Amino acid sequence: MGSSSNKKLTSASALKALKAVDRRLSKTGLSHTKRHQSSSHPRNTSARAVRPVRNPSFARNAHEDLITPAPPPRRATNGVEWLPVPGWDFPWLWAGFSTRKGGLSRAYCADDSPGLPAVAGELNLGITATDDRENVLRNRHLFAEAVTSDPATPLISLRQFHSNRIVRTSRTDAARNQPHKADGQITAEPGLLLAIQTADCIPILVADRKRRVVAAFHAGWRGTLKRIVETGVGQMRLTFGSDSKDLIAAIGPGIGLCCYAVGEEVLSEFDSQFTYARELFREVYDSDPVRRKYPMLFLTQRAPGHSPIGPSLHVDLIEANRRQLLSAGLAAASIQIVGGCTQCHPDLFFSHRGSHGYAGRMMAAIGIREARKHRPS
Ligand SMILES: [Zn+2]
Repeated sequence: MGSSSNKKLTSASALKALKAVDRRLSKTGLSHTKRHQSSSHPRNTSARAVRPVRNPSFARNAHEDLITPAPPPRRATNGVEWLPVPGWDFPWLWAGFSTRKGGLSRAYCADDSPGLPAVAGELNLGITATDDRENVLRNRHLFAEAVTSDPATPLISLRQFHSNRIVRTSRTDAARNQPHKADGQITAEPGLLLAIQTADCIPILVADRKRRVVAAFHAGWRGTLKRIVETGVGQMRLTFGSDSKDLIAAIGPGIGLCCYAVGEEVLSEFDSQFTYARELFREVYDSDPVRRKYPMLFLTQRAPGHSPIGPSLHVDLIEANRRQLLSAGLAAASIQIVGGCTQCHPDLFFSHRGSHGYAGRMMAAIGIREARKHRPS
């Protein structure tokens, strides 16, 4: 995803640290008082008041207050756990987002040390240097089967390069040796799945309910800046005569506002492109549950106003792409946010940032079911 990275204290490790302090203090007969408890409340302003004000126009949040729960995946009979789009129960439409669960890949498994009983692998869907190509291809069939009930459904992927280039794809593209170099694809041809690969970037699926056209887009910060989704909806209108009012969209799992720290250069780029740019950014500070609960422990070490962890600038790519869909004429009610921050939920998702670049890839897929397969026999 590029740009500068801030390693986050995960909420799990922070809570572990808090428990350790709790235990130690209870052994010495000390415990936090009611007064200290109240100062740990997120709405208490004293903690915020001591932060240096860098840019008062941004709202501020503690990292842990922005964390959202992961959506519950659906488990296919072949073991693949994937995320359907809530409310998309159209018999003609296939759509879904993969997770890392299910599949045959061992390359990114956390606990594959020798001696452990053999456990199922993971669903890496990207051809990477570290994973076995055959396993990835078999994983793709498993994912296609989970979404369409047929492992042979062609899955068309792209060679993504953070652009706003969009191609019209067809069944013949499944046989290409080299995928198209693009970050979006559109088709009106039934019987195939358009796929976008991600491991933090935002995947967006769009469908035209009237004309039965589907599209898939890849939006990291660069693609978002280049308005790939707005461009894509424009191409659906131009090529297929789509009316924005008939379009539905689903924004899949990606790195959330909670975790996506960026450099100031991303802010200035967005400022130059979007009138609403500033609404997409937030100042986020690392919450430290130990400091929140036991502020007295730290008073001798650091004077007020000298925060140990300064806030970092975060951008909300999900909201940015939702705004683009609205600008392109979609109704707010037609946009589904599937949710799930890829970095916050490493058990469920691959995260490029969360695993420092050593990650598998997930897929977002959309397609039009072939008429003979949904017509009652
Ligand atoms: Zn997160």
